[in-house]
Amino acid sequence: MLPGSFVERKHSCGRPNCHCADGKILHSQYQISVLVDGKPKAFNIPAELVEKVREKTDMRRRFDDAAAAIRDINLKRLLREKENR
Ligand SMILES: [Zn+2]
Repeated sequence: MLPGSFVERKHSCGRPNCHCADGKILHSQYQISVLVDGKPKAFNIPAELVEKVREKTDMRRRFDDAAAAIRDINLKRLLREKENR
């Protein structure tokens, strides 16, 4: 798993002869946006690592969702148990 979120940024490179110059087909820069020591940081991801990083941030999100669901269930259980004493 990896922390943070996966983001795709579009940009033009500034070269006048590039396909991006008309502003329609831009370059993609992939980044992972994470908190490091409580501060938001963005790290560029090279194209060959994009799929791996995307999978690992997705996996972390699913893990977090599952953990949140378990916390909710356990809280409800605790409150029910408390009432039934
Ligand atoms: Zn360009």
